[in-house]
Amino acid sequence: MAATEEELEVLRTELLEKKTETEKQGEVVRALKGNKVDKKEIEEALQLLMKLKLEVQAKEKEITSKAAGSDGKGNSKESFRQQLNDTLTSRLFFIPAFKIYGGVAGLYDYGPPGCAIKANVLALWRQHYVLEESMLEIDCPCVTPEIVLKASGHVDKFTDFMVKDEKTGMCYRADHLLKDYCTEALEKDPLLTSAKRQELKEVLTTLDELNAAQLGEKIKEYKITAPDSKNPVSDPYPFNLMFSTSIGPSGNAPGFLRPETAQGIFVNFSKLYYYNGNKLPFAAAQIGQAFRNEIAPRQGLLRVREFTLAEIEHFVDPEDKSHPKFKDVADLEFLLYPRKEQLSMEKPVKTRIGDAVSQGVVNNETLGYFIARTYLFLTSLGIQKDRLRFRQHLPNEMAHYAADCWDAEIECSYGWIEVTGLADRSAYDLKAHSDKSNHDLSAFEKYAESKVFERLKITPHLKLLGPAFKKDGDTVGKALLAMSEEEALDMKAKLEADGQAPLEVCTTGKTFTIKKEQVSISKETVTEAGRKFTPAVIEPSFGIGRIIYCMYEHCFYTRPSKGGDEQLVVFKFPPIVAPIKCTVFPLIQNEKLNVVAKDLSVALTRAGVANKIDITGTSIGKRYARTDELGVPFAITVDFETDVTNDVTLRERDSRAQVRVPLKLIASVVRDISEGHLAWLEVLSIYPNVAPSQEE
Ligand code: AMP
Repeated sequence: MAATEEELEVLRTELLEKKTETEKQGEVVRALKGNKVDKKEIEEALQLLMKLKLEVQAKEKEITSKAAGSDGKGNSKESFRQQLNDTLTSRLFFIPAFKIYGGVAGLYDYGPPGCAIKANVLALWRQHYVLEESMLEIDCPCVTPEIVLKASGHVDKFTDFMVKDEKTGMCYRADHLLKDYCTEALEKDPLLTSAKRQELKEVLTTLDELNAAQLGEKIKEYKITAPDSKNPVSDPYPFNLMFSTSIGPSGNAPGFLRPETAQGIFVNFSKLYYYNGNKLPFAAAQIGQAFRNEIAPRQGLLRVREFTLAEIEHFVDPEDKSHPKFKDVADLEFLLYPRKEQLSMEKPVKTRIGDAVSQGVVNNETLGYFIARTYLFLTSLGIQKDRLRFRQHLPNEMAHYAADCWDAEIECSYGWIEVTGLADRSAYDLKAHSDKSNHDLSAFEKYAESKVFERLKITPHLKLLGPAFKKDGDTVGKALLAMSEEEALDMKAKLEADGQAPLEVCTTGKTFTIKKEQVSISKETVTEAGRKFTPAVIEPSFGIGRIIYCMYEHCFYTRPSKGGDEQLVVFKFPPIVAPIKCTVFPLIQNEKLNVVAKDLSVALTRAGVANKIDITGTSIGKRYARTDELGVPFAITVDFETDVTNDVTLRERDSRAQVRVPLKLIASVVRDISEGHLAWLEVLSIYPNVAPSQEE
């Protein structure tokens, strides 16, 4: 187990004391040698010095092994990741794309198990969000005209800060260089003072808030150089992450590959609103590819240049962000990391989402509802609850128009990684597209009963104001319209009494005399059937590749082989996301057993269960190990008893427990446990248990 920060601090202090003691002993030895004292005395002092040096080494080793980079058993995060990635690539979960031509950074293919897992995750996402929330799913093009992304702000602002190696021209993300510097110093430099540790932690906390100048200052202050060459780097400057293209053969219609799917939903708002019977709230969803020309893709599947996004745009009345189903999730408790705790360097707090919303930590019920639903979604994929947190954006990290933003972050070997952004973006997007396209993207709320009220009506008579006030005519007209009700009623009384009234215009500093015939001021009765407004949007945005990679990390473990000489790899995927739900083995290679196994495989396929038949003569233990490595949760073995008893052995991957299930029921049992309608524990209680295989 890794030590806590407090325990590490104690160890560092002990190390410092040991080092000081060692230095002093070194001086003693040098002094004795200089004084040419008795050889025995020098020998004894030297021995003590050696002992102290060994203690220093041991203490350093202890700190390294207990620091955050290690699991405490000497297995570093790097070696865990290496072992995981070896399995993922050797079993074709993913493959670096275009590898025979050397590959391209940030582009990956998904092989057969990776594809199956992605399809299962997306099916679950559709079930959890689109179906359960009656969302309107749409599918829009990736190629997007420039005007759309100009309106959304991406052409001008979708940038990261980049620095260049001043000699080689290699490009790096400025914030990544700073982050790496701080993380490495914190993890690997046991001698950092507490004050310095605090400073570096603060830099890490506020990293996303730094502008180009602030990043540049820090890079200079810490003397950060290009990681590959150690050359100095340039000042940071913005780099737009969109891939540009042109649409059509003329080259005159600029476009981009979309960096997110959301814009396709916004531009279709009025159609979707109409489709929904002109009613709010409603949500639209889209799953599709997004493209970002990342400056320096790294961290494998976590930062890539093309990835699948699943996005929801939930449109609400800005004056009513309550959610009818919030009460269903209000009691859920999970880790929240509000702004306040981040800035005071405290830890995330396990919080009831109902309390977070009622105390105003989370801005509104709809945002809180999606945060809670996202917690349920991610944990249903096998993400560990204590390694999932929702972090609130710091003020500068959040767009100026946003009401509140939270990121779902999962802890993995690379640290805490954002996998889903949940933002209340107010009415910004629809207003921006409405302004640019001149298309009405508003909603209308019809009142149950029309509202009738009196309103003051001011009508400046411009035809008379122009000749009377010449160049100031327009200004006077505007000033009359801008009068408060009180000012207007006061003027009306003066006009009726004296035929004229003074009008002070603060923009010009002048006072004009208004004549009775130059303006009409009266009360009018207005009937309002409803109100027109631009809806606010709450946007949960899921990076599917990141979620899948974190799931790989959280589901991966090793266990010793039967003889204990080998570590066998297992993915404990929940059955619902496992790439293959069940394997079918004849116990040994035998024609009769093969026939039963093949029939069973057909029956499973017909029941909709993804299965794999293995009739190779390999030992059953090896065959189990091979499927554990793919995360297959269940295995059926056909043996010689099957012929007599008409049942087969069903084995569960993690417990390796086995039961005998009748042949005629096995396909439906496996289907039910794979789809989550039946728990393995129930299967254990219903069917006769048998001893685990001798070969495991
Ligand atoms: P954003 O629009 O930047 O908030 O991104 C939405 C989600 O997309 C994030 O929560 C990530 O899960 C995912 N994402 C963003 N950039 C990348 C990338 N370069 N590679 C993979 N996933 C990404």
